[in-house]
Amino acid sequence: MDEVFLSIRGRVLINVEALSMTESVGNYVKHRRVPVILQEEGGYSVYFVPAISGESIAHGYQEVLAQTALNMNPPLPVCKLCSKGIFLKSTNENVFKEAFGKSSPKDDNELEKEIIKGCLVEDVGGFLYAHGGRNVKRTSNFYTGYMIPVRESLQNVVIEPQLHTRYALGTSFVKKGAERGQMIYYVELASAPYVFSFDLDTKYIGKTTFTYQNAGKLVVNDRKMRLHVALNALKKFLLEMMFGAKKTRFLPIVDWESICISVSDDVWTVPSPFTKDYIERAKLKQEKVSYNTKLYSFEFGKGSFEDAVLNAIEDAKKRLDII
Ligand SMILES: [Zn+2]
Repeated sequence: MDEVFLSIRGRVLINVEALSMTESVGNYVKHRRVPVILQEEGGYSVYFVPAISGESIAHGYQEVLAQTALNMNPPLPVCKLCSKGIFLKSTNENVFKEAFGKSSPKDDNELEKEIIKGCLVEDVGGFLYAHGGRNVKRTSNFYTGYMIPVRESLQNVVIEPQLHTRYALGTSFVKKGAERGQMIYYVELASAPYVFSFDLDTKYIGKTTFTYQNAGKLVVNDRKMRLHVALNALKKFLLEMMFGAKKTRFLPIVDWESICISVSDDVWTVPSPFTKDYIERAKLKQEKVSYNTKLYSFEFGKGSFEDAVLNAIEDAKKRLDII
């Protein structure tokens, strides 16, 4: 096989997390909130609930991707900015010059080719070059979105501000009635069982997509290595849950409740884990529609989370003929 499609859906209980924060108002840092609509007794209700943004998940995956590429021997190409976790991704001419150390090609197809060849993160995760009226874009080959609380929990999830202080009373840094030392501050924490969604489509990795004449043309000679790195990065990203903010002092308590990973020869997505029976629904779907689709799942008390992830990645690699 030349391509494989992975779809990952899961439910993960996360306690006391500050993984996705929005603005701070004075000394108060807010957790991200989103509206979620729910069908209830013949009508609909809206809940404002804590959420973790897809951007935050995408950032995490791309950081692992960059590091995995650079750790290979020999390393795979990653541009100067992406290698430092700065995902400006060829936004304009100045960014391009800084990232690749040269001016961008005038031809749109050549520009996409240059970026794909020079940076695995932008090859896999896409980019948008917008400069002087010229727009060249590459759609990301992976898809992710907001983590929101699961359906049964919507009435019971909480966001709570926690007071913190770095006062050092009794030291010369805090004088009576004069300097106040460092301000007290509040951080909003949330606890909820969240849904998790992530798809990876390997079809266009290492291939151009922007100009229709060249869409799907292979432009690298290390595509297999790139797929190997994308899959290894995904494995590490999942097993170590490498996304989210504020983890140095608000490291959350994480318990995976279930996960379902499909590996297919063509686009095939696992149903939404918002409702509890999603693994059952995935099996029913697989009976009706299958592109050589295999499911790897874990539910609390049935199998292990690590096995589901490792076996799915192994299957994908086998299909792509990667050792
Ligand atoms: Zn880059």
